[in-house]
Order: sequence, then C-alpha cells, then structure tokens
Amino acid sequence: MKTFDCDLGGSSAYTILEVARKYIGDNEPPVVCDQCGFCYVRNRRPAKEIAEDWNNIFGEGYTSEWPGVKARLFYVAEFFDQNYGWKGKKVLDIGAGEGTFLKFIQQRDAWVSGLEPSMENCTKIEGLGAKAYCQTIEDPIPDEKFDVVTILWTLENCQDCMRMLRFAGECLKPDGQLMVATGSRILVPFKKPLSSYFSKNPADTHCFRWSESSLQHAVNRAGFWCERTNDCEQSDWLVMIATKTGDIQGMFSDTCTGVIDYFNRWDREFP
Ligand SMILES: [Zn+2]
Repeated sequence: MKTFDCDLGGSSAYTILEVARKYIGDNEPPVVCDQCGFCYVRNRRPAKEIAEDWNNIFGEGYTSEWPGVKARLFYVAEFFDQNYGWKGKKVLDIGAGEGTFLKFIQQRDAWVSGLEPSMENCTKIEGLGAKAYCQTIEDPIPDEKFDVVTILWTLENCQDCMRMLRFAGECLKPDGQLMVATGSRILVPFKKPLSSYFSKNPADTHCFRWSESSLQHAVNRAGFWCERTNDCEQSDWLVMIATKTGDIQGMFSDTCTGVIDYFNRWDREFP
C-alpha cells in the first residue's frame, strides 16, 4: 500500500467523505481535497494488483456486451464521430477490455489498437485483427504514435490518474486527441441511488470521482487543452476531448464543502 496526496495539486489536506462509510463495507472511505475539492482514495495497492482485481471482477460475469455498457461505448463512438470523425484515424484504447469499443470504431474505418492487462481480453482484441498491447501503463509506451488515445471508464479505476494521462500524452502524435469518458461523474443530477454508485469492492479499485472541472484540471496538468465536453447534465456520462496544442486554461477546481454537501444531499434524497 502506498499513501497518495491529492493527485491534482499535491495537497495533503483533506476531509474524509464520512457519508460514504455506510455504503462501502469495511473499506476506507474516499477523501475530498481541502484545496481543490478532488475526491480520491488515499491508500492504494500497486497498479498490477488493482488490475488483477478488475480481471476478477470481469471474471464474475461483467461483460461489455451488457446493453448498458454497450450503449455507453456506442455513445462515445458516436460523440467523437459526429464532432471529428474516425475514418482513417489510428486509435489506441487504454483499458480496452474485450474490444467492444474498438469493434465499433473499426466499423467506422479507424485503425485500432488496444492496451489491456488481461491476456484473455488481448486474445479477443487480436481476434478483431487489431493490435493488442498486453500491459499496463506502468510498462513502457508503445513504439508507435496515435491520432487518438481513448480512456473509457478506466481513469477512475486506475492507481495513478496523472500517470495514465501523461502516458496517453506520450502515445499521441503532436496534434493527436485524447478522449476520456467516465460514469463516476459528480456535481450533476443523481443518476442512480448512492448505494449503487458506491460499492463494497476494495476502495482502490475506484480511486477517483470526477467532476467536469476536476477532469479539466487533471487533463490541463497533464499538458492537454480541453477542446470539448458533452452535456453531462443530460447524460449519465462525462466525455471530454482534449489536445496537446492550445493554451493551458488555468485552474479549474471544486470546493471541498461543495463536494461534501453534494454527497450528503445525494445520501438524503436518493440513498
Ligand atoms: Zn487537490
């Protein structure tokens, strides 16, 4: 176990998100940074152990063929397609899972590769005729550069979000685009009961809870300029597209009390 300070600004001042306790079993509750309002888990195991846990969770019946999972992957495929187009783009999906998303954009004429720690999933990705990097972001970067790197429902589940974003930046061509999507979004209408938002899985399998501004803050710190976000008040998902060119946009942050009040209200209104 390693103890982390706030991933975004490095502050060690935090407030425990007490309201989470009743939903997470014996796990450690997330904390909220006193300085920037980022919601994160402080104690985390090595990345490979977290990845193995996710493989086990996958093993227990989770599949990207579930209608809800397939629908959200289709949504991001469509969102990018309508704004920029996939045709001819060379794409790397970090945390590609079974390759369902890669399949969607392959059908839209993208050249696809997946980075994925599970051997079983890598075999499925190769079955699409795609390149599979069977590794995590702690391993060296691939020896090719991409037009688009996608991190879909993965950034909230990794051990080191800034490392993942910087890794994505290193995989991109200079004018490449990053697309991040997450369902962990906060400071938006409650999409489900708080008891299903939290889980009794080990705390570090879900280290981060993103708001639009904390995600913007993170991509900025990783050297990206945020180009477009979806209307996440009207969607269950937060999708952000960023590039390495353009100006760094200044600091976006939430307030610690704002985030804690939000979760307290969620607990009262939709437990
Ligand atoms: Zn912070």
